[in-house]
Amino acid sequence: MNTLNADLHCHSVVSDGTLTPEELARRAKAQGVTLWALTDHDEIGGQTRAAAAAAACGLDYLTGVEISVTFLHQTVHIVGLGFDADNAQLVQGLQQTRGGRSQRAQEMATDLARIGIKGAFEGALKYAGNPNLISRTHFARFLVETGVCKDTYEVFRKYLTEGKPGFVEHRWANLKDAVRWITQAGGMAVIAHPARYKFSANEELALFTEFKGLGGGGVEVVTGSHSAAECVSYTGTALEFGLAASRGSDFHSPAESRTELGALPDLPGQLTPVWQLLAERIQHAPVPAPART
Ligand code: AMP
Ligand code: MN
Ligand code: MN
Ligand code: MN
Repeated sequence: MNTLNADLHCHSVVSDGTLTPEELARRAKAQGVTLWALTDHDEIGGQTRAAAAAAACGLDYLTGVEISVTFLHQTVHIVGLGFDADNAQLVQGLQQTRGGRSQRAQEMATDLARIGIKGAFEGALKYAGNPNLISRTHFARFLVETGVCKDTYEVFRKYLTEGKPGFVEHRWANLKDAVRWITQAGGMAVIAHPARYKFSANEELALFTEFKGLGGGGVEVVTGSHSAAECVSYTGTALEFGLAASRGSDFHSPAESRTELGALPDLPGQLTPVWQLLAERIQHAPVPAPART
């Protein structure tokens, strides 16, 4: 069960990835993934296409999303898995979370213009497959295209992160709302890439305690953005808080992502995989008819 090649975190053109849901499904299949979830930021507009593409290429599928949340003045990402994508409260909550992205992007462009980088709003928008989901990643692509930086990692280091020009503080959803939107739609809430936040030990404890108390069910232990040591550390956290464990690459683009779809270590054997608790929510790929002899 823990050795399943599940990839339950990646992005398409519906948010800040560069591949379509169909291209991702085919790529996941080619990489040996057997259970897949598309988890676009704050947006489930790609779910019908992703589920259909998964069925067409023989992948089991869980619905997915990655919700932006503000917790103790930091942005935390909560992945939702196995929810009903037609749920009205979830749809409305996500719409509310997406609101304000355009305004924030305008402010980011104004900041960048002050240091001599002109036209960043229009430049970033060109990369956004979904104009309602303009993200820092689209700005990063524009700054690479125009030769300001050599890659998107350099952009984030120099421009789009806290304390750097081009960073605009933004208020996302509440943790409580995000967990509720997911769980009342029948899904499981999962803390994404916990090692990426800059919390003190006490703040992190508050995050996990509050999350668990609100009905959160899982944590990403194996992700493209965790080192082996971080994976060990969050194995302990999952056990301590009685959370199931998830596994996902956070793949965005063949040209940019360091971790390929499905190319991750197995979940440690002592953990309960999220897919065990979500078994009823998995959309199984049709079994191919036996070849005629
Ligand atoms: P946003 O939701 O607009 O704040 O954009 C966040 C996205 O930017 C993340 O989902 C990543 O895709 C990307 N990102 C954030 N920080 C970094 C970083 N340090 N290096 C590379 N990409 C990053
Ligand atoms: Mn992203
Ligand atoms: Mn994330
Ligand atoms: Mn992500």
